[in-house]
Amino acid sequence: MKNKFDTIILGLGAMGSAATYQLAKRGNKVLGIDKFSPPHVYGSTHGDTRITRQAIGEGEQYTPLSLRSYEIWREVEKEINKNLLVVTGGLIISSDAKSAVNHVEKFFEKTLSAAKKYDIKHDILDAPEIRKRFSQFNVKNDEVGYYEYNAGFLRPEECVNANLFLAEKYGAEIYKNEKVESFTEENGTVKVKTDKSEYIAEKLIVSAGPWLPELIDKEYADLFSIRRQVMYWFDTKGSIEQFSSPRFPVFIWELQGDNQGIYGFPAVDGPRGGVKIASEQFKATTTPETVNREVYTQEIREMYQTYVKPYFPGLTETCIKAVSCLYTVTPDFGFIIDKHPKHYSIIIASPCSGHGFKHSAAIGEVLAQLVVDGKSKINIDNFTISRLIKV
Ligand SMILES: Cc1cc2nc3c(=O)[nH]c(=O)nc-3n(C[C@H](O)[C@H](O)[C@H](O)COP(=O)(O)OP(=O)(O)OC[C@H]3O[C@@H](n4cnc5c(N)ncnc54)[C@H](O)[C@@H]3O)c2cc1C
Repeated sequence: MKNKFDTIILGLGAMGSAATYQLAKRGNKVLGIDKFSPPHVYGSTHGDTRITRQAIGEGEQYTPLSLRSYEIWREVEKEINKNLLVVTGGLIISSDAKSAVNHVEKFFEKTLSAAKKYDIKHDILDAPEIRKRFSQFNVKNDEVGYYEYNAGFLRPEECVNANLFLAEKYGAEIYKNEKVESFTEENGTVKVKTDKSEYIAEKLIVSAGPWLPELIDKEYADLFSIRRQVMYWFDTKGSIEQFSSPRFPVFIWELQGDNQGIYGFPAVDGPRGGVKIASEQFKATTTPETVNREVYTQEIREMYQTYVKPYFPGLTETCIKAVSCLYTVTPDFGFIIDKHPKHYSIIIASPCSGHGFKHSAAIGEVLAQLVVDGKSKINIDNFTISRLIKV
């Protein structure tokens, strides 16, 4: 039957495209549907770069996903003959006096503990050593650095393109610009209704990013809050070389005197491409429909004064580009990768909370294993929905 599939994937961003590729590679008859034409700028997977690191401070349960993702990205790169993951080294700066919280308490300590547990190559740097190796950072005397040799960045749009290209190569059907309006499950069969047609499948993976709350039952929808974030690209005073890899690493900085930290990347777009730096905000919530996607001059000014000027004397107030993007955040900043509590043929995949991309290749594999084998090789017990539901 033309409209009958083994698996339907709702949403082809970072997670859905990776799952579609992994399922197609396993010979699963898979249909991926997206309401836009991914990669696109309306969800969570745009903005040129995403940090990847291996010792994961959000919790050491994430490190196996990251390590496996490195392996998968390298396999994908070979298949498409294109570089997706660039190792630049990664610097995490923190201090006893820090007030910023990076997703979870004790992020720096947890990073170090994961590095030790998984034998991830790193150095601990005091402030003079940070200044010596990375003079671009205006660190305080009491700040310390964790430097991870294999950290770097991924190209999110290119990764989605690669996943979808390979998914189609292995036989997946990809329907773009088609919106899923509803889905139901009855006796182990899932029915998916779109604005163009209806489909049935044995399994459905809902990987709708920030649109997830509008697609699932209210009692679960409330577990996710959508947060507008802004990424900024600032120009350099001198040559771009000082902010290019290998002289400049990806970084996360747990600031003193501020609730939020900053993170950033080496320049990737030549002399006039700027250096991408961002902070995070968790005060206001929004939705993909109502979010203000424009970035105002006032926001850019504030970003420069508060988060750029004091920390990077080599950057200027000239903002080359500023783009908004959406986080889908859970109350504990952890992922959801789990069967729907009432409909076991439906799997919900919401690995965001601002740190999901680096794991997306392995999450695609985990989702494929859940569909095909009923369980994943990597332990996902920490990513249940039930952990967030108060009884
Ligand atoms: C500013 C920013 C910075 C980040 N930095 C990092 C980082 O440095 N490192 C890191 O690891 N992670 C980072 N993340 C997190 C990471 O980018 C996300 O975890 C990841 O992109 C989430 O992907 P997703 O597939 O869940 O969602 P999305 O990519 O948004 O995909 C969801 C898809 O579902 C589709 N869809 C929705 N509803 C429907 C429907 N009804 N019918 C059909 N299709 C539908 C959408 O069109 C979309 O394509 C960052 C996120 C942001 C926003």
